[in-house]
Formats: sequence, C-alpha cells, structure tokens
Amino acid sequence: MEKLGLSFELTEEQLDIRRAGREFCEKEFTPELALELDRKEEFPMELYRKAAKLGFTSMRFPEEYGGQGYGILEECLVIEEMCRADSSLGIAVTATTFASDLILAHGTEEQKEKYIPPLCRGEAISSGCFTEPARGSDLASRLDTRAVKYGDTWYINGTKTFITNAPVATFFIVLCQTDPKAHPPHRGQSLFVVDRDTEGLEVSKLKDKMGIRPSVTGEVSFNDVKVTDDALLGELNKGFYYAIDFFDESRVAVAAQAVGIAQGAFEIAFKYAKEREAFGQPIIQFEGVSFKLVDAATLIEAARLLTYKAAWLIDQGKPDPLITSMAKTLASEVAVKVTEWCIGVLGGYGYFGDYRVERFHRDAIVTTIYEGTNEIQRLTTLRYLLRRF
Ligand SMILES: Cc1cc2nc3c(=O)[nH]c(=O)nc-3n(C[C@H](O)[C@H](O)[C@H](O)COP(=O)(O)OP(=O)(O)OC[C@H]3O[C@@H](n4cnc5c(N)ncnc54)[C@H](O)[C@@H]3O)c2cc1C
Repeated sequence: MEKLGLSFELTEEQLDIRRAGREFCEKEFTPELALELDRKEEFPMELYRKAAKLGFTSMRFPEEYGGQGYGILEECLVIEEMCRADSSLGIAVTATTFASDLILAHGTEEQKEKYIPPLCRGEAISSGCFTEPARGSDLASRLDTRAVKYGDTWYINGTKTFITNAPVATFFIVLCQTDPKAHPPHRGQSLFVVDRDTEGLEVSKLKDKMGIRPSVTGEVSFNDVKVTDDALLGELNKGFYYAIDFFDESRVAVAAQAVGIAQGAFEIAFKYAKEREAFGQPIIQFEGVSFKLVDAATLIEAARLLTYKAAWLIDQGKPDPLITSMAKTLASEVAVKVTEWCIGVLGGYGYFGDYRVERFHRDAIVTTIYEGTNEIQRLTTLRYLLRRF
C-alpha cells in the first residue's frame, strides 16, 4: 500500500495551536452552557464571536483577508480540540465558515473582499446550500432550484433544506440549475452568493434535531430572488465541479469533528472507570470495561492519523479524495462506536445528560451523514481504489 504512504510530524507551532485551543475551551466551554443550548437548540453567538476574535475560526484563511494563514491541518487541530471539549459547542463554533472556501477558490477579488474579512472577524457567518428536499446524495441530477436570466438579472427559485447555520447566516452559497437542458444535468449547474437580506430569500429553522443542536439548521427558500452576475461564483455552469472539489477537501473537517468527539467521550469514560467502584474495585479492573477503553483509544488514534494525513496532503497541494473519504468514514464510525461504548462504561449515568456522553453520541451520528453519507464515501473510495490497484 505504499501508494497511500506519506508521513508527517506535528511541528512545535502546531502543538502550540492545539494547546491554545485547549486553553480557550477550558475557559469558555462550560457544560452548563452546552446543556442549555442543547435544550434550546440555540446557536452560541457570543462564544462564536470570542473564538473568531482569537482567530480560531479563520485558521485556514489567508492573512490578507484577515485570516491566520495556516493550513487545513491546523484548522483540524482546532476543530478536534473544540469537539473534544464539547461536541455540540465545538461543531457550532467551527462550522461557521462552511462553504466560504468556494469564494476563496473561485470568487472575484470584489467577492473575496466583501465576504471573507467579516467572516474572519466573527461579524458574519456563511452557509452552503446544496441539498434539496428531493435530493441530497444525488446532486448530479437536475436540481429543482433554478436560476434563470432575463436581461441582466438572474431570478432564483427553489428550496434548499438541512442547511447548517441558515438561521444565523449572513450569506448563502447556493447551487442552482442554470441550464435545465444540460446533459448530463450537472454540466448546467452554477454557484451564486446571496446575501441574507435579499428580497425573496426566507429561512425557517428546522427543529427537533437528534444532535448538534446548538449548530442550528434551516430550510432556505428562494422566491424570485434577484441577483446579477456579480453574485455568480466562478464560471457559469461549473458549479457542480467546484462543489465536488470543495467537498473532497472539506470533509476532512468532519473527520476532525469525529476524532474530537470520540476523544472527548473516551476521556470522560476513562476517568469514570478509574473512579467508579463495583464488587470492591474500580471498574477499570474488569476486562469487560478496560478492553473496550483500550480498543476505543486504539481506534481513535488510527482515525486521528488518517485524518491528519488527509489534511496534510491537502496542505501539501496533493489533495487525495481517496484518503479524505477513508478518513471521514473511519473517524465518523469510530466516533459513533466509541461514544456508544462510553455510555456503556458509565452504566445508568451514561444514559443521562450530566456526564455528556449521551450528547456526544447523539452528536457523533451526524458525522456519518453530512458532507456525503458514508455509503457515498465508500463509493468514492472504491472508485479511487479501482483506478489505483
Ligand atoms: C444536521 C445536518 C446538517 C446538514 N447541513 C447541510 C448543509 O449545510 N448544506 C447542505 O447542502 N446539506 C446539508 N445537510 C444535508 C446532508 O448533506 C444530506 O442529508 C446528505 O448528503 C444525504 O442526503 P439525503 O438526506 O437527501 O439522503 P439521500 O441522498 O436520500 O440518501 C438516503 C440514504 O440512501 C443512501 N444512498 C443514496 N444513494 C446511494 C447510493 N448510490 N449507494 C448507496 N447508498 C445510497 C444514503 O447513504 C442514505 O443512507 C445536512 C444534514 C444534516 C442532517
């Protein structure tokens, strides 16, 4: 498998970034806040602004636009630390720039100047609108959200659903069908950036999510939303290709979320197992408990290494969708499995909110679904394996 093999080491600077993330979370991520926002399904706006001001949400953005000028690996280290400290708050705070990479990659200088600096300062939040009520995995088929041009004006109509940050976003990056006759249909799709206050754009909050409840989700409807060519992102009818390239890199962040969630739950359960006594000894003395924790630590380390490798490859300018899909699949399934084991280690206490592992488990499940379900990741992995072996 040497075709997969490249190695790396974390630098002193990267270790410092991880330490800084940990210190921030120890001070700001209180279990009470997480519990309250989980109950209310409310976004942690104040916490997000604090994190943004310290640069934690703009790690990978270039310094010229107010970002920290680091790579995806440094961003993953922050995501991991925040999700380790608290899965719900961690995801809510770090997913606030979702899809804005598309502006950096394909936007005009005016678009970059308009949207990226406020994002880095914590004065804006982005949202990426791809999924529709009738299609999520199958984005290559003809989209129901259409953009039609009359004169100089584009008219956008349609509905996007399950959109992260929609209730709090200041702008939306929207995948639309611009050529309804294109064959195959994805050759006729384009991306637009639409400001929240544009007439005809409406957001409704989706409630009763299983997990990541402080990371608010919504449905976005477009009713004759008028934009000009200034809102078009990159070239006309290239949107699908831009989106696929974006997801091939962005889903490493989901892997980092999953690694952090698993690590956080593991640490809670490990500490508990050393302190809780049954039959006259700490329960960690029972192999039924300790072997589960050993397996959890082993799986987390494997998922972490694959995640770092996927991130590192992107930072080296050699993004590898095979490794990114493998990392997302492995890490998300490790997170689901480990958090479930951790509930078991805590027994009845694990099933209630106080020890947080039940919430970490609820939060872990979404990492197997969004930014491409794990079935879709397996299809991607297979496609690349067939090409290489
Ligand atoms: C909390 C949350 C936040 C989200 N945030 C966003 C966001 O910000 N922006 C956005 O655009 N979307 C977002 N999504 C949507 C998410 O990306 C989709 O839910 C996901 O891509 C799956 O699409 P779907 O729900 O339509 O399921 P479907 O595509 O209908 O799939 C249903 C099931 O069929 C399986 N399936 C489908 N096709 C195949 C196949 N070819 N082979 C094998 N199995 C297959 C899937 O794996 C899945 O198990 C979010 C979702 C959630 C839950």
